[in-house]
Amino acid sequence: MNASRVPRAVVFDLGKVLLDFDYRILARRMATQSSVSADEILTVINQTPLLHRYETGLMSDREFYDAVVSATGFRGAEEEFLNWFGDIFTEITPMVKLQEALVRRGVPTYVFSNTNAQAIRHVRKSFAFYGQFTAEVLSYEIRSMKPDSRIYEAVEGVSGLSGSDLLYLDDRSENIAAGESRGWQAWIHVDPKETVSRVSALMRL
Ligand SMILES: [Mg+2]
Repeated sequence: MNASRVPRAVVFDLGKVLLDFDYRILARRMATQSSVSADEILTVINQTPLLHRYETGLMSDREFYDAVVSATGFRGAEEEFLNWFGDIFTEITPMVKLQEALVRRGVPTYVFSNTNAQAIRHVRKSFAFYGQFTAEVLSYEIRSMKPDSRIYEAVEGVSGLSGSDLLYLDDRSENIAAGESRGWQAWIHVDPKETVSRVSALMRL
């Protein structure tokens, strides 16, 4: 880390950085209307290529729902499934407050996430901080998932910044490594208290 260089923008991963999420909530709800157990539903969501294809923009909401139905025997409607699928997030308050403090100081902030259309519809509707980002770089729109270089190029394109002008926070080490390889100031996020303290010092909040 080059602590003497103050970044000009902060790039936030979403999941496990600003929002916690738990697909077990979805699996338990779906299990009441499916032919398989909550654990088996969780495996379908988490450990098959389905979610990856949806989050790379290769499947529509309808195609994702249809594929989940055929794998689980889910009997609920598409709308019910999509509502439950989006409703798995809880705010990580100290990190949300950090993003808000940066916005108040006029520092551009970007959301940079491997995610899907339904999650973002739900998050945009449910969490006010999401509307404060300068711009979004989302895997299903770019059709590229972190740590592929194409989605990092999209961040540089939309922000007009590169190298150490960007401070990037993510909980996954392979994503951070890809940012570091481009010269970004990239920090693995583990603990909100530690991240808030480091970012506040670097950005002079
Ligand atoms: Mg994450």
